[in-house]
Amino acid sequence: MSKTILITGASRGIGHSTAVLAGALGWSVSVNYATNASAAGQTVAAVKSAGGNAIAIQADVTDETAVIALFDATREAFGPIDGFVNNAGIVAPGSALADMDFARLKRIFDTNVLGAYLCAREAARHMSRSRGGNGGSIVNLSSAAARLGAPNEYVDYAGSKGAIDTLTIGLSKELGPEGVRVNAVRPGLIDTEIHASGGKPDRAAVLGKQTPLGRPGTADEVAESIIWLLSDASSYVTGAIIDVTGGR
Ligand code: NAP
Repeated sequence: MSKTILITGASRGIGHSTAVLAGALGWSVSVNYATNASAAGQTVAAVKSAGGNAIAIQADVTDETAVIALFDATREAFGPIDGFVNNAGIVAPGSALADMDFARLKRIFDTNVLGAYLCAREAARHMSRSRGGNGGSIVNLSSAAARLGAPNEYVDYAGSKGAIDTLTIGLSKELGPEGVRVNAVRPGLIDTEIHASGGKPDRAAVLGKQTPLGRPGTADEVAESIIWLLSDASSYVTGAIIDVTGGR
């Protein structure tokens, strides 16, 4: 059955891979991005050539008006939203907490926590049966950092992902009766451009060797678990937090 899926931060990395796998299932994908319109356009083209339908929609997840418009535009383009991937997230260069300035802390928590909560709220409004939705599946992107703490690197980021785990637990209980399943995927060291934005482009390649599986993961490997959680194959799974970490 065809589904309408909205993915935040789908211009590259895990969001891009998830969009393309959704396209291969024939689903319609709303490809959100913040700044990189040309990369989002490439995701749209890749979804279409995989067999799906797609549009790109710019919206910064920290902007409430833009987030509301993003969900409305998705529904207008493809009909009721069946799946939402709460994926947009950022890191900042590695540092001890004592050296982090306020602007950095605010940016991390604004994007990864407030932005994710705002998007989850809109998903709840659109998908809940008592509000006119059809039910569906929400997948939140957490991180192994939520349980490792990321000392001397990103305790801010780690804490922001701890909030995502807690959101997943609470919202799954809130929305179960509404026909909406809520789960999280916790990636480990995945080879995407997020590490370059933290100042260490080879971080996943170097640290990935120390995982039990001896290598970093790929965005496609994370996307497979997200697609499973979006699909009807996981129909009795809610409130789950799935590690995709190579055993880390
Ligand atoms: P990535 O390659 O850096 O891509 C991030 C995406 O998020 C981009 O499409 C970017 O869009 C978008 N984005 C950033 N800020 C945004 C905002 N304010 N509003 C809307 N979109 C925004 O990241 P990734 O590695 O694929 O990570 C995806 C998710 O998985 C994140 O939540 C991350 O924390 C989590 N994760 C990743 C890893 C890993 O090792 N890669 C590990 C654990 C968890 P633009 O380019 O257009 O700005």
